[in-house]
Amino acid sequence: MKPEALLHPTPAGLFCPVGGFHVDPVRPVERALITHGHSDHARAGHTHVLATRQTLDIMKIRYGDDFCTSEQEAAWGEVIDVGGVNVSFHPAGHVLGSAQIALEHKELRIVVSGDYKRGVDPTCAPFVPVNCDVFITEATFGLPVFHHPHPREEIGKLLTSLKQFPDRSHMVGAYALGKAQRVIRLIRDSGYDEPIYIHGALAKLCDYYESQGIALGEIRPATIDKSSPDLFKGAVVVGPPSAFQDRWARRFNEPLIAFASGWMMVRQRAKQSGVELPLVISDHCDWPELLETINEVAPSEVWVTHGREEALVRWCELKGIPARPLHLVGYEDEGD
Ligand SMILES: [Zn+2]
Repeated sequence: MKPEALLHPTPAGLFCPVGGFHVDPVRPVERALITHGHSDHARAGHTHVLATRQTLDIMKIRYGDDFCTSEQEAAWGEVIDVGGVNVSFHPAGHVLGSAQIALEHKELRIVVSGDYKRGVDPTCAPFVPVNCDVFITEATFGLPVFHHPHPREEIGKLLTSLKQFPDRSHMVGAYALGKAQRVIRLIRDSGYDEPIYIHGALAKLCDYYESQGIALGEIRPATIDKSSPDLFKGAVVVGPPSAFQDRWARRFNEPLIAFASGWMMVRQRAKQSGVELPLVISDHCDWPELLETINEVAPSEVWVTHGREEALVRWCELKGIPARPLHLVGYEDEGD
């Protein structure tokens, strides 16, 4: 069986005609398998959804109880028959609950990795390499220039800045799902135990992470009013990046804008978005991690879904591994 007969790209996303399901569809479909809760991969409105317990919970938190008609939970490694295709979920190390999805049919195994990373992250289960015939990988940071530093060094910059500017409110932009909780956890692991203030948009997801055993320390709402202008002097305030582009952030005391993202590698991006303290902390693989993963998984073929596809395809071809870009659209790196 040709791999394209088991899985191929369509405008709605990757489709498995044998099993009658899509993986991370960008439009409402009958049967969806979801890798993780970021809004570009997990959308509301499908009829049946199969995902890990945590991804289902996260979808409920973001979209409400009626985000789909019926849901089914996949335990790590459990083999589930979907329309005659054996499907199993394996940790992707990207955010809480994030999975790679393996499809197996007639001795052909395809792994859809969704978004993933290899770096240490105590807020989710680490990536597990799954051997396969076709490995489908993202390439968000798929260029040799992308080398992510160790996140502890980046958090060290934040703590140094807090000492240098003890009066300024340190506003840390971080995506609401995954990055925000990882940043808070990294701050805690660096020995900072003052209360950390969060924007309201993060509250439910931080509560959920806590409920899953990920301790975030003392979290308080970053509610600001005229009677308490000094309350946030020298405090750490974490919020979604969008919140820091509006007036909300400017009400704090001499706000110092930081942003935790893999894109902060690109100085121009940091400058353009008015970020004073860029923190290169990514939930995606950098270039060496992408190569390391392909070497470990040892697939006979690589398909590249989104990001900077060409360089990775070229690298595979030079290694003698057939590779192709899938040119999937609709994946905007919510949690980079
Ligand atoms: Zn993601």
